[in-house]
Amino acid sequence: AAKEGGRGIWRRFEQGMDDRLRERHEIKMGLRRAFRAGELEVHYQPLQDIGTGRVTSCEALVRWPHPTRGMIPPSDFMPVAEESGLIARIGEWVLRTACAEAAGWPDDIALAVNLSVVQFRGGRLPAMVRAALADSGLDPGRLQLEITESVLLDATGHNLETLAALRALGVKIVMDDFGTGYSSLSYLRSFPFDKIKVDRSFIQDLPREEALAIIRAVAIIGRSLSIPTTVEGVETEEQLRMVEQEGFTEAQGFIFSRPMTAQALRDALGVKAGVTAADGGLPGVRT
Ligand code: C2E
Ligand code: MG
Ligand code: MG
Ligand code: MG
Repeated sequence: AAKEGGRGIWRRFEQGMDDRLRERHEIKMGLRRAFRAGELEVHYQPLQDIGTGRVTSCEALVRWPHPTRGMIPPSDFMPVAEESGLIARIGEWVLRTACAEAAGWPDDIALAVNLSVVQFRGGRLPAMVRAALADSGLDPGRLQLEITESVLLDATGHNLETLAALRALGVKIVMDDFGTGYSSLSYLRSFPFDKIKVDRSFIQDLPREEALAIIRAVAIIGRSLSIPTTVEGVETEEQLRMVEQEGFTEAQGFIFSRPMTAQALRDALGVKAGVTAADGGLPGVRT
């Protein structure tokens, strides 16, 4: 009976595996089709100066509007894109699309684009970024490439060389989701990052004492190392007040703005250069 029970469990386990594999397979085929059909979109979420409300940069975030499932979040399809190798083409498309879009924004607004660790494989990344900049005409100084710790978990040194080559193009390298890695502090020693972005989980944990202590520590580290710091995921007035109190001058979060379509952002920014709080800020964006 024990054996049968065990087999029953195994069968249920196998069944669960089957479901997950089928789900992954469906996402993979659907994603490939949607990408080829031009159905993916790039949305943009501003980062703003807390004091003035001025938009400092906008982060490109890929979106997959699915005909029946609604908007599929990147957390559901990026892992599949990475596993299947689709990320190479999707990542290049996001970068090219976002650079072309950002070239039309006021030139004091930077563009942040996320890079997957998989894009560091092979030696194509710096040339790809250089071409995206050249073709769009975007000033390299306005491009911020966001990477996570996984890029630094590379014993060969290849990824560090790639980061250096990227930086040599004049772009900025941002440490994204800071604090979630296993030895986040040591990563700051391995590469001269241009910015540190504290992970959303710490902001959402405010006002818990532990979260506050960690945010405070990151602010101090940033100041000590002269690395600008920023935060993501600010949703409430209390969170905003606390990060400002700790010395952060820039933030991203639903309290300011949600990710929006390229057109919505264009409308919000208007055509005039340099949207500032003095201009009344961004319509629809809290300042
Ligand atoms: P991320 O790079 O840390 O991006 C910030 C995420 O936090 C975005 O989720 C954004 O919508 C969300 N966020 C910002 N403020 C708030 C807030 O106040 N509340 C809440 N609840 N969420 C907030 P999203 O768009 O779902 O993206 C998730 C992750 O997927 C990104 O995290 C990034 O790691 C990855 N991703 C998205 N687009 C791309 C892409 O084009 N390439 C790559 N490689 N990764 C991407
Ligand atoms: Mg990011
Ligand atoms: Mg982030
Ligand atoms: Mg994050």
